Amino acid sequence: MNNRIVILGAGESGTGAAVLAQKKGFDVFVSDKGKIQQKYKDILNQHGINWEEEKHTEELILNASEVIKSPGIPEKAPLIKELRSRNISMISEIEFALRYTKAKIIGITGTNGKTTTTLLTYHILKKAGVDVCLAGNVGKSLALQLTEKDFEYCVIELSSFQLDDMYNSRINISVITNITEDHLDRYDYKMEKYVDSKFRITQNQQPDDAFIYCYDDEIIAAQVAKKKLQAQPFPFSIKEKKVPGAYLENENLNLTINNQTFIMSIHELALQGKHNIYNTMAAGIVGRLLDLRKESIRESLSDFQNVEHRLEKVSKVHGIEFINDSKATNINSAWYALESINTPIIWIMGGVDKGNNYEMVMDLVRLKVKAIVCLGVDNKKIHDTFKDVVQTIVDTTSASEAVKASYRLGKKGDTVLLAPACASFDLFENYEDRGRQFKKAVQQL
Ligand code: ADP
Repeated sequence: MNNRIVILGAGESGTGAAVLAQKKGFDVFVSDKGKIQQKYKDILNQHGINWEEEKHTEELILNASEVIKSPGIPEKAPLIKELRSRNISMISEIEFALRYTKAKIIGITGTNGKTTTTLLTYHILKKAGVDVCLAGNVGKSLALQLTEKDFEYCVIELSSFQLDDMYNSRINISVITNITEDHLDRYDYKMEKYVDSKFRITQNQQPDDAFIYCYDDEIIAAQVAKKKLQAQPFPFSIKEKKVPGAYLENENLNLTINNQTFIMSIHELALQGKHNIYNTMAAGIVGRLLDLRKESIRESLSDFQNVEHRLEKVSKVHGIEFINDSKATNINSAWYALESINTPIIWIMGGVDKGNNYEMVMDLVRLKVKAIVCLGVDNKKIHDTFKDVVQTIVDTTSASEAVKASYRLGKKGDTVLLAPACASFDLFENYEDRGRQFKKAVQQL
């Protein structure tokens, strides 16, 4: 077996993996089918790592002993098929990096709430003085951070695509926030495959590890009942009393771990909305499993700064509140956004539909939405679905047009909510671009 590691995709994770692999003495080559950003080229050049862009040269790739691939590359890509047919091992950056750390690993996955829960967990640990790093889909590459120092704990956001390329890593504390339909195009439109992918987070857990999950999520609960999970379970629920675990009672969050109870009013929480009670429970359980001081956890849960583009209050203009939830790219997250608002809503939505079934939001729309402002290229499905439920539906093709239209339709006491339930690629670079353009347009009103 040779010593050659090929890295496919030179983004944050690929570049980090390349630097770590080189430090560990491998013969490293990086190949990206697209253009590589200048900052990553600079890092690769600084370390004398060979790379290519806008192509994959098979002679330089198929001789690898192992491939580290970006989670963005789908299984059906011809090069991936070729590598599979040759039985060349393919792993994710996280799987590779975890070979080189002694840290205890906290891994967080789920359809929605990963980033929020990951950042909140990191905030709790950091504030309590724990030697911890933040990685995965957020922040700097884990591999790159490990080239500088090791940590006591790592909090890692794990998407299902990353989990698909993980085999041997042991996650000491795993979290699944929820599982609803999303990304099914990558799973042959089979929900079981997507669910299995999420549960890979538990695959190497041992009896002294912990598994934190949403008990109210029927898909997760069914899997937990069916699978023989090794780790100790810590469910959280807003419907039933869960001990050990977390539950809601009289508007108080109740966390019981190792027979010790922590209680906090939900009105003191920095993150508002039902979905965030769940996220807070998950992060709080991690904090208590590490036996962090209750007072320190309480402080962190109340002073956490919400993440941009997630139910972010932008401003109030003439009594109309504008909220940016551009990250609500699927129907479930849009449901939670609509649910969390108690005023009449002008709902800005639309974009690239991922096969949405809008039935789920119908009741909330009937109850709260006074107008829909479509922000997308093709809005036919939205008109067809909501024409009998919402009186006013208008079409727009830019954030500024959508904001102006909403402002005209709104009156004092209303909320304009950007929660598209769709991907953004028809009109925007990504959801961040959509959110920023929305905020800019609100500021220009
Ligand atoms: P992810 O990293 O999984 O995409 P984020 O924390 O970025 O999750 O949130 C994505 C979207 O989902 C946002 O619109 C957010 O308001 C919403 N959201 C956050 N937590 C949850 C949850 N537990 N359940 C449903 N929706 C959620």
